[in-house]
Amino acid sequence: MAQIQIKNIRKDFGDFNAVKESTFTIEDGEFFMLLGPSGCGKTTTLRMIAGLELPTSGEIYLDGEEISQLPPSKRDIAFVFQMFALYPHMNVRRNLSYPLVSQGMARRDVKAKVEEVAGILGIQDILNRPVGGLSGGDRQRVALGRAIVRDPKAFMMDEPLGALDAEFREHMAEELRALHDRMNATTVYVTHDQLEAMQMGDKIVVMNNAVVEQFGTPQEIYDKPATMFVADFIGSPSMNFLHFDGTVGEGDESVTLGGEVMRIPRTRQGASGKLVFGVRPEHVTLSDSGTYRGEILASEYLGTTQIITLDTPNGELKARIDSAQVAKVGEKVGLGFNPRTITLFDAGSGHALR
Ligand code: ATP
Repeated sequence: MAQIQIKNIRKDFGDFNAVKESTFTIEDGEFFMLLGPSGCGKTTTLRMIAGLELPTSGEIYLDGEEISQLPPSKRDIAFVFQMFALYPHMNVRRNLSYPLVSQGMARRDVKAKVEEVAGILGIQDILNRPVGGLSGGDRQRVALGRAIVRDPKAFMMDEPLGALDAEFREHMAEELRALHDRMNATTVYVTHDQLEAMQMGDKIVVMNNAVVEQFGTPQEIYDKPATMFVADFIGSPSMNFLHFDGTVGEGDESVTLGGEVMRIPRTRQGASGKLVFGVRPEHVTLSDSGTYRGEILASEYLGTTQIITLDTPNGELKARIDSAQVAKVGEKVGLGFNPRTITLFDAGSGHALR
Protein backbone atom coordinates (compact mmCIF):
# COMPACT_ATOMS: atom_id res chain seq x y z
CA MET A 1 0.00 0.00 0.00
CA ALA A 2 1.46 3.36 0.91
CA GLN A 3 3.84 5.43 2.97
CA ILE A 4 2.98 9.14 3.17
CA GLN A 5 5.68 11.67 4.06
CA ILE A 6 4.70 15.18 5.04
CA LYS A 7 7.59 17.65 4.86
CA ASN A 8 7.22 21.19 6.14
CA ILE A 9 3.74 21.65 4.74
CA ARG A 10 2.10 24.97 5.41
CA LYS A 11 -1.31 26.32 4.44
CA ASP A 12 -2.38 29.95 4.32
CA PHE A 13 -5.88 31.12 3.44
CA GLY A 14 -5.15 34.73 2.49
CA ASP A 15 -3.56 36.27 5.58
CA PHE A 16 -4.70 33.45 7.81
CA ASN A 17 -2.20 30.69 8.59
CA ALA A 18 -4.26 27.49 9.06
CA VAL A 19 -1.33 25.02 9.23
CA LYS A 20 2.22 25.98 10.22
CA GLU A 21 5.21 24.09 8.83
CA SER A 22 4.46 20.46 9.74
CA THR A 23 6.56 17.36 9.27
CA PHE A 24 5.65 13.74 10.00
CA THR A 25 5.58 10.35 8.28
CA ILE A 26 2.67 7.94 8.01
CA GLU A 27 4.07 4.45 7.57
CA ASP A 28 2.60 1.87 5.25
CA GLY A 29 -0.44 0.19 6.79
CA GLU A 30 -0.75 2.51 9.77
CA PHE A 31 -4.03 3.68 11.26
CA PHE A 32 -2.95 7.26 11.78
CA MET A 33 -4.87 9.84 13.80
CA LEU A 34 -4.86 13.62 13.34
CA LEU A 35 -6.08 14.82 16.74
CA GLY A 36 -6.75 18.28 18.13
CA PRO A 37 -9.41 20.79 19.14
CA SER A 38 -11.77 22.46 16.69
CA GLY A 39 -10.02 24.80 14.25
CA CYS A 40 -6.47 23.54 14.86
CA GLY A 41 -5.89 22.62 11.22
CA LYS A 42 -6.51 18.85 11.13
CA THR A 43 -9.06 18.87 8.32
CA THR A 44 -6.89 21.22 6.26
CA THR A 45 -3.94 18.83 6.72
CA LEU A 46 -6.06 15.86 5.65
CA ARG A 47 -7.39 17.75 2.63
CA MET A 48 -3.84 18.61 1.57
CA ILE A 49 -2.90 14.91 1.65
CA ALA A 50 -5.96 14.05 -0.45
CA GLY A 51 -5.31 16.93 -2.87
CA LEU A 52 -8.50 18.84 -2.02
CA GLU A 53 -6.29 21.77 -0.93
CA LEU A 54 -2.84 22.58 -2.26
CA PRO A 55 -0.15 23.44 0.30
CA THR A 56 1.17 27.00 0.29
CA SER A 57 4.64 25.50 0.77
CA GLY A 58 6.23 22.16 1.64
CA GLU A 59 5.95 18.72 0.09
CA ILE A 60 3.90 15.55 0.32
CA TYR A 61 5.30 12.22 -0.88
CA LEU A 62 3.35 9.03 -1.55
CA ASP A 63 5.72 6.04 -1.65
CA GLY A 64 8.59 8.41 -2.33
CA GLU A 65 6.90 10.19 -5.24
CA GLU A 66 6.07 13.85 -4.80
CA ILE A 67 2.32 14.43 -5.11
CA SER A 68 2.01 17.89 -3.48
CA GLN A 69 0.60 19.63 -6.55
CA LEU A 70 -1.29 16.73 -8.18
CA PRO A 71 -5.10 16.86 -8.44
CA PRO A 72 -7.01 14.38 -6.21
CA SER A 73 -7.80 12.07 -9.14
CA LYS A 74 -4.07 11.51 -9.77
CA ARG A 75 -3.21 10.61 -6.17
CA ASP A 76 -4.86 7.24 -5.74
CA ILE A 77 -6.07 8.28 -2.29
CA ALA A 78 -9.72 7.78 -1.30
CA PHE A 79 -11.37 10.47 0.76
CA VAL A 80 -14.18 8.87 2.75
CA PHE A 81 -16.65 11.70 3.05
CA GLN A 82 -19.39 11.59 5.61
CA MET A 83 -20.35 7.99 5.66
CA PHE A 84 -23.91 8.65 4.59
CA ALA A 85 -23.09 10.17 1.21
CA LEU A 86 -24.56 7.41 -0.98
CA TYR A 87 -26.85 7.34 -4.01
CA PRO A 88 -30.17 6.66 -2.24
CA HIS A 89 -32.12 5.64 -5.35
CA MET A 90 -29.65 2.87 -6.25
CA ASN A 91 -29.29 -0.51 -4.57
CA VAL A 92 -26.15 -1.49 -2.69
CA ARG A 93 -24.61 -3.35 -5.64
CA ARG A 94 -24.96 -0.32 -7.91
CA ASN A 95 -23.59 2.02 -5.26
CA LEU A 96 -20.50 -0.18 -5.02
CA SER A 97 -20.22 -0.75 -8.80
CA TYR A 98 -20.54 2.89 -9.75
CA PRO A 99 -16.95 4.01 -9.09
CA LEU A 100 -15.64 1.03 -11.08
CA VAL A 101 -18.05 1.35 -13.99
CA SER A 102 -17.22 5.03 -14.30
CA GLN A 103 -13.52 4.04 -14.49
CA GLY A 104 -14.39 1.81 -17.45
CA MET A 105 -13.79 -1.54 -15.74
CA ALA A 106 -15.21 -4.62 -17.52
CA ARG A 107 -18.59 -5.81 -16.24
CA ARG A 108 -17.32 -9.22 -15.10
CA ASP A 109 -14.43 -7.65 -13.16
CA VAL A 110 -16.81 -5.17 -11.55
CA LYS A 111 -19.04 -8.01 -10.35
CA ALA A 112 -16.10 -9.93 -8.89
CA LYS A 113 -14.66 -6.87 -7.16
CA VAL A 114 -18.01 -5.83 -5.68
CA GLU A 115 -18.52 -9.32 -4.30
CA GLU A 116 -15.04 -9.40 -2.82
CA VAL A 117 -15.57 -6.06 -1.06
CA ALA A 118 -19.05 -7.08 0.11
CA GLY A 119 -17.40 -10.17 1.64
CA ILE A 120 -14.79 -8.06 3.46
CA LEU A 121 -17.53 -5.85 4.89
CA GLY A 122 -20.01 -8.66 5.57
CA ILE A 123 -22.76 -7.13 3.41
CA GLN A 124 -23.20 -9.87 0.76
CA ASP A 125 -26.81 -10.46 1.80
CA ILE A 126 -27.94 -6.87 1.23
CA LEU A 127 -26.41 -6.29 -2.22
CA ASN A 128 -29.80 -6.10 -3.92
CA ARG A 129 -31.48 -3.91 -1.30
CA PRO A 130 -32.06 -0.21 -1.97
CA VAL A 131 -29.76 1.97 0.12
CA GLY A 132 -32.69 4.11 1.27
CA GLY A 133 -34.09 1.39 3.55
CA LEU A 134 -30.85 0.31 5.24
CA SER A 135 -29.93 0.70 8.90
CA GLY A 136 -27.31 3.31 9.83
CA GLY A 137 -24.62 0.67 10.32
CA ASP A 138 -25.24 -0.94 6.94
CA ARG A 139 -25.17 2.43 5.21
CA GLN A 140 -21.83 3.14 6.77
CA ARG A 141 -20.51 -0.21 5.58
CA VAL A 142 -21.72 0.54 2.05
CA ALA A 143 -20.12 4.00 2.16
CA LEU A 144 -16.84 2.43 3.19
CA GLY A 145 -17.27 -0.16 0.46
CA ARG A 146 -17.55 2.67 -2.07
CA ALA A 147 -14.10 3.85 -1.05
CA ILE A 148 -12.59 0.35 -0.84
CA VAL A 149 -13.66 -0.98 -4.29
CA ARG A 150 -11.27 1.32 -6.12
CA ASP A 151 -8.29 -0.23 -4.27
CA PRO A 152 -6.80 3.13 -3.39
CA LYS A 153 -3.34 3.35 -1.86
CA ALA A 154 -4.66 5.10 1.24
CA PHE A 155 -7.87 6.22 2.93
CA MET A 156 -8.59 9.65 4.37
CA MET A 157 -11.43 9.89 6.89
CA ASP A 158 -12.71 13.12 8.44
CA GLU A 159 -14.57 12.45 11.70
CA PRO A 160 -16.45 9.58 10.03
CA LEU A 161 -18.27 8.65 13.23
CA GLY A 162 -18.94 12.20 14.38
CA ALA A 163 -22.67 12.17 13.77
CA LEU A 164 -23.37 8.91 15.61
CA ASP A 165 -24.66 8.43 19.15
CA ALA A 166 -22.12 7.20 21.70
CA GLU A 167 -22.98 3.51 21.77
CA PHE A 168 -23.20 3.04 18.03
CA ARG A 169 -20.11 5.12 17.58
CA GLU A 170 -18.10 2.78 19.78
CA HIS A 171 -19.39 -0.22 17.86
CA MET A 172 -18.51 1.30 14.46
CA ALA A 173 -15.09 2.37 15.78
CA GLU A 174 -14.34 -1.26 16.67
CA GLU A 175 -15.59 -2.41 13.29
CA LEU A 176 -13.47 0.16 11.44
CA ARG A 177 -10.40 -0.83 13.38
CA ALA A 178 -11.06 -4.55 12.72
CA LEU A 179 -11.56 -3.79 9.03
CA HIS A 180 -8.28 -1.93 8.97
CA ASP A 181 -6.52 -4.86 10.61
CA ARG A 182 -7.88 -7.20 7.90
CA MET A 183 -6.96 -4.90 4.99
CA ASN A 184 -3.87 -3.22 6.44
CA ALA A 185 -4.51 -0.13 4.34
CA THR A 186 -2.83 3.14 5.29
CA THR A 187 -5.57 5.22 6.88
CA VAL A 188 -5.48 8.83 8.06
CA TYR A 189 -8.32 9.67 10.42
CA VAL A 190 -9.28 13.08 11.79
CA THR A 191 -10.86 13.34 15.22
CA HIS A 192 -11.14 15.78 18.11
CA ASP A 193 -11.89 12.91 20.50
CA GLN A 194 -8.74 11.93 22.41
CA LEU A 195 -10.22 8.64 23.60
CA GLU A 196 -11.09 7.62 20.03
CA ALA A 197 -7.57 8.55 18.91
CA MET A 198 -5.98 6.57 21.76
CA GLN A 199 -8.16 3.51 21.22
CA MET A 200 -7.94 3.31 17.43
CA GLY A 201 -4.62 4.82 16.42
CA ASP A 202 -1.25 3.19 15.77
CA LYS A 203 0.20 6.71 15.74
CA ILE A 204 -1.20 10.10 16.65
CA VAL A 205 -0.33 13.62 15.58
CA VAL A 206 -1.59 16.12 18.15
CA MET A 207 -2.24 19.57 16.66
CA ASN A 208 -3.05 22.86 18.33
CA ASN A 209 -3.27 26.34 16.79
CA ALA A 210 -1.96 25.20 13.40
CA VAL A 211 1.09 23.53 15.00
CA VAL A 212 2.02 19.86 15.40
CA GLU A 213 2.62 19.61 19.14
CA GLN A 214 3.65 15.95 19.15
CA PHE A 215 3.78 12.89 16.94
CA GLY A 216 4.06 9.35 18.34
CA THR A 217 2.32 6.18 19.50
CA PRO A 218 -0.63 6.54 21.90
CA GLN A 219 1.61 5.31 24.72
CA GLU A 220 4.43 7.77 23.97
CA ILE A 221 1.96 10.62 23.84
CA TYR A 222 0.30 9.58 27.09
CA ASP A 223 3.46 8.73 29.05
CA LYS A 224 5.84 11.29 27.61
CA PRO A 225 3.87 14.36 26.56
CA ALA A 226 6.09 16.87 24.76
CA THR A 227 4.08 19.89 25.85
CA MET A 228 1.61 20.96 28.54
CA PHE A 229 -1.04 21.21 25.83
CA VAL A 230 -0.64 17.52 24.95
CA ALA A 231 -0.50 16.49 28.62
CA ASP A 232 -3.73 18.35 29.26
CA PHE A 233 -5.55 17.27 26.09
CA ILE A 234 -4.86 13.53 26.50
CA GLY A 235 -6.28 11.57 29.44
CA SER A 236 -9.31 12.05 31.63
CA PRO A 237 -9.02 13.51 34.19
CA SER A 238 -6.01 15.14 32.58
CA MET A 239 -2.49 15.43 33.98
CA ASN A 240 -2.11 17.50 37.17
CA PHE A 241 0.08 20.58 36.88
CA LEU A 242 1.67 21.68 40.17
CA HIS A 243 3.27 25.08 39.65
CA PHE A 244 6.47 26.03 41.49
CA ASP A 245 9.47 28.34 41.27
CA GLY A 246 12.73 26.49 41.11
CA THR A 247 15.79 25.33 39.27
CA VAL A 248 16.66 22.01 37.69
CA GLY A 249 20.18 21.46 36.48
CA GLU A 250 21.31 19.11 33.78
CA GLY A 251 21.22 15.56 35.21
CA ASP A 252 19.26 16.50 38.34
CA GLU A 253 17.02 13.85 39.84
CA SER A 254 15.01 15.91 42.30
CA VAL A 255 13.21 19.22 42.69
CA THR A 256 11.89 21.08 45.72
CA LEU A 257 8.13 21.32 45.69
CA GLY A 258 6.24 22.99 48.55
CA GLY A 259 9.39 22.77 50.70
CA GLU A 260 9.75 18.98 50.11
CA VAL A 261 12.32 17.25 47.97
CA MET A 262 10.61 15.25 45.20
CA ARG A 263 12.32 12.71 42.99
CA ILE A 264 12.03 13.16 39.23
CA PRO A 265 13.44 11.33 36.19
CA ARG A 266 16.94 12.55 35.35
CA THR A 267 16.69 15.49 32.93
CA ARG A 268 19.17 16.39 30.21
CA GLN A 269 17.79 19.91 29.93
CA GLY A 270 18.07 22.36 32.80
CA ALA A 271 15.72 25.28 33.50
CA SER A 272 14.96 27.78 36.20
CA GLY A 273 12.12 30.08 37.09
CA LYS A 274 8.49 29.12 36.71
CA LEU A 275 8.32 25.35 36.41
CA VAL A 276 5.53 22.79 36.42
CA PHE A 277 5.53 19.34 38.04
CA GLY A 278 3.23 17.14 35.93
CA VAL A 279 1.72 13.96 37.36
CA ARG A 280 -1.20 11.88 36.11
CA PRO A 281 -4.00 11.17 38.63
CA GLU A 282 -3.32 7.42 38.65
CA HIS A 283 0.28 8.03 39.74
CA VAL A 284 -0.65 9.85 42.93
CA THR A 285 -0.92 7.83 46.17
CA LEU A 286 -2.61 8.91 49.41
CA SER A 287 -1.32 7.79 52.81
CA ASP A 288 -1.25 8.80 56.47
CA SER A 289 2.48 9.38 56.38
CA GLY A 290 4.33 11.62 53.93
CA THR A 291 5.42 15.19 54.47
CA TYR A 292 4.01 16.69 51.25
CA ARG A 293 0.37 16.97 52.27
CA GLY A 294 -2.98 17.98 50.81
CA GLU A 295 -6.52 18.43 52.05
CA ILE A 296 -9.29 16.37 50.49
CA LEU A 297 -11.87 18.67 48.88
CA ALA A 298 -14.09 16.16 47.10
CA SER A 299 -14.38 12.56 45.99
CA GLU A 300 -16.13 11.12 42.98
CA TYR A 301 -17.00 7.42 42.98
CA LEU A 302 -16.42 5.63 39.65
CA GLY A 303 -16.92 1.96 40.54
CA THR A 304 -13.49 0.33 40.88
CA THR A 305 -11.73 3.67 41.29
CA GLN A 306 -12.54 7.06 42.78
CA ILE A 307 -11.25 10.50 41.83
CA ILE A 308 -10.11 12.53 44.82
CA THR A 309 -9.67 16.30 44.51
CA LEU A 310 -7.12 17.79 46.90
CA ASP A 311 -5.78 21.19 47.77
CA THR A 312 -1.95 21.18 47.88
CA PRO A 313 0.65 23.88 48.54
CA ASN A 314 1.10 24.06 44.75
CA GLY A 315 -2.52 24.09 43.61
CA GLU A 316 -5.38 21.69 43.12
CA LEU A 317 -4.63 18.04 42.37
CA LYS A 318 -6.68 15.01 41.33
CA ALA A 319 -5.79 11.47 42.39
CA ARG A 320 -7.31 8.29 40.99
CA ILE A 321 -7.25 5.69 43.76
CA ASP A 322 -8.91 2.36 44.56
CA SER A 323 -12.50 2.96 45.63
CA ALA A 324 -11.94 0.65 48.63
CA GLN A 325 -9.49 3.18 50.13
CA VAL A 326 -11.12 5.46 52.68
CA ALA A 327 -10.79 9.17 51.83
CA LYS A 328 -12.88 11.66 53.79
CA VAL A 329 -13.55 15.23 52.71
CA GLY A 330 -11.69 17.63 55.02
CA GLU A 331 -8.99 15.09 55.91
CA LYS A 332 -5.31 16.02 55.42
CA VAL A 333 -3.26 13.26 53.82
CA GLY A 334 0.31 12.63 52.67
CA LEU A 335 0.80 12.55 48.89
CA GLY A 336 3.21 10.28 47.06
CA PHE A 337 4.24 10.48 43.40
CA ASN A 338 5.82 7.69 41.41
CA PRO A 339 9.04 9.46 40.29
CA ARG A 340 9.35 7.57 36.99
CA THR A 341 6.02 8.97 35.82
CA ILE A 342 6.74 12.65 36.49
CA THR A 343 7.08 15.14 33.64
CA LEU A 344 8.62 18.55 34.35
CA PHE A 345 7.65 21.47 32.13
CA ASP A 346 8.96 24.96 31.61
CA ALA A 347 5.87 27.07 32.37
CA GLY A 348 6.86 29.82 29.93
CA SER A 349 7.30 27.69 26.80
CA GLY A 350 5.01 24.84 27.92
CA HIS A 351 7.67 22.37 26.75
CA ALA A 352 8.65 19.27 28.69
CA LEU A 353 12.19 19.12 30.11
CA ARG A 354 13.80 15.85 29.13
P1 ATP B 1 -12.78 21.33 12.90
O1 ATP B 1 -12.76 20.05 13.68
O2 ATP B 1 -13.58 22.41 13.53
O3 ATP B 1 -13.06 21.12 11.42
P2 ATP B 1 -10.02 21.49 12.20
O4 ATP B 1 -8.93 21.27 13.16
O5 ATP B 1 -10.31 20.41 11.24
O6 ATP B 1 -11.30 21.89 12.98
P3 ATP B 1 -9.65 23.14 9.91
O7 ATP B 1 -10.98 22.81 9.32
O8 ATP B 1 -8.45 22.55 9.29
O9 ATP B 1 -9.65 22.81 11.45
O10 ATP B 1 -9.51 24.72 9.93
C1 ATP B 1 -8.39 25.39 10.46
C2 ATP B 1 -8.63 26.87 10.35
O11 ATP B 1 -8.60 27.27 8.99
C3 ATP B 1 -9.97 27.30 10.90
O12 ATP B 1 -9.80 28.51 11.60
C4 ATP B 1 -10.81 27.51 9.65
O13 ATP B 1 -11.79 28.49 9.86
C5 ATP B 1 -9.78 27.95 8.63
N1 ATP B 1 -10.14 27.56 7.28
C6 ATP B 1 -10.36 26.30 6.84
N2 ATP B 1 -10.67 26.31 5.52
C7 ATP B 1 -10.67 27.60 5.12
C8 ATP B 1 -10.90 28.27 3.87
N3 ATP B 1 -11.19 27.59 2.78
N4 ATP B 1 -10.78 29.60 3.86
C9 ATP B 1 -10.46 30.29 4.97
N5 ATP B 1 -10.23 29.74 6.18
C10 ATP B 1 -10.33 28.40 6.26
